[in-house]
Amino acid sequence: ALDKLFPRKTLGFFPSPLHKLERLSAMLDTEIWAKRDDVSSGLAFGGNKIRKLEWLVADALAKGCDTLVSIGNIQSNHTRQVCAAAAAVGMKSYTVQETWLEWDDPVYDKVGNILLTRIMGGNPIMGGYGYSTTEKDTWARALEEVRAKGGKPYPIPAGASDHPLGGLGYANFADEVAMQEQQLGIFFDNIVVATCTGSTQAGMVVGFAAQEKRRRVIGIDTADDEAMTRRAVTKIANDTCELIASKGGKKVVLKDADIEIIPDYSGPAYGLPSEQTIAAIRTAAEMEAMLTDPVYEGKSIDGLIDMAKKGHFKGQRVLYAHLGGAPALNAYYKAFEDPEN
Ligand code: PLP
Repeated sequence: ALDKLFPRKTLGFFPSPLHKLERLSAMLDTEIWAKRDDVSSGLAFGGNKIRKLEWLVADALAKGCDTLVSIGNIQSNHTRQVCAAAAAVGMKSYTVQETWLEWDDPVYDKVGNILLTRIMGGNPIMGGYGYSTTEKDTWARALEEVRAKGGKPYPIPAGASDHPLGGLGYANFADEVAMQEQQLGIFFDNIVVATCTGSTQAGMVVGFAAQEKRRRVIGIDTADDEAMTRRAVTKIANDTCELIASKGGKKVVLKDADIEIIPDYSGPAYGLPSEQTIAAIRTAAEMEAMLTDPVYEGKSIDGLIDMAKKGHFKGQRVLYAHLGGAPALNAYYKAFEDPEN
């Protein structure tokens, strides 16, 4: 329905696949399904930003911009997808690639996401330090550089999140889930989703709250900063409600309890896996051949497995939103080194 209210440039293959995780479900005695936004795009291994960028790229094209400018970590999935979207629609991209964590590996700035960005002809600008959802000088300088060269930049914040249109992609995801549920004759009582810059969870919260039957959207914090994540998700969710209502869409009023952030699986820091993260990644890989990464989905699958083991979902159906991230695995080979094999 949001297609009728806002221009959208198709970049992904939607609806994304939805399937039951048979072996994990049996092991955890809980019915668990996965919605595979990690395989929902032909653009450079895809991921959750493709769904968000459909609305931002439409806006950029309508405004006559020729260059997408964004920011993220060196191994950012987001900046790789910004570069991919730009390539696919014939725009340029400039992406500031900061150091958001200490991961001592000589190939960290050479393989995975950053390699794909280079192959796609992006302009990664290495520099800047520390994760934050607030604006950065490095990003402002990149915008200036594009203007100085006569280009017309379109600014996209980290994660395409704190942007007026940032929540639309995952508000629309909620409609997509409802449509698939109807086809299958099932209902998901719980959605488990990795959360960081916030617009994925925020969009879902808004989209699902607009539906008749209520359910939980459980955000597994990956920023290792529960307060910052909660602020980001709350702001984007409320802004998205207002935006949709302002265009004649359904008016949704959220309560604090609608924003559920679980901080227990985010450690030891953003971008660094715990032993439990690595064990969960191995479990999903060994049991479902479903690849998750140490930065985001490894933490959300850890949360799902642990909460299921503790009986949180007894008698309920759970949907795991797989948002991508596997390209970063190459940069984390050390976390999986095993002297036995
Ligand atoms: N999962 C993956 C693979 C991501 O790249 C991101 C991006 O930050 C997230 C989850 C979290 O999404 P968001 O930043 O919208 O909260």
